[in-house]
Amino acid sequence: MRVEINKAIEGCRNKQIIGAALETEVNYLPEDKALKDSLTWLKEFGNQDVDLFRDWLIVSNFQVVSDLAENSLIIDNNALGKIQINKAQGQKCDRCWHYQKETFNGVQNTKLCKRCSNIINFEFI
Ligand SMILES: [Zn+2]
Repeated sequence: MRVEINKAIEGCRNKQIIGAALETEVNYLPEDKALKDSLTWLKEFGNQDVDLFRDWLIVSNFQVVSDLAENSLIIDNNALGKIQINKAQGQKCDRCWHYQKETFNGVQNTKLCKRCSNIINFEFI
């Protein structure tokens, strides 16, 4: 699956639609039932932290969806399902470069995502 997603992102980069993988969000519509079940299972019973997927893929966001969004950059159809690459929304976190809808003000006018702001606050304690 990772190979397919990276291929789709690479396609966007080649067309110069985006500069970096972190500028994208990935929607994944699984058509393979076994894969869908395991992703759903992971979400419900495994690590609640969906950050796992986005870090693994090095994109700003990853979600398993049942409907694709409108206005995507690319939709890739493959044996595993549909992979939709969207432009990431929100602001870029100055620390990890992920795009997040929710950002927090850090020191020296920096913008931080929730996770980084938690890490940084923790370091100050
Ligand atoms: Zn961050």
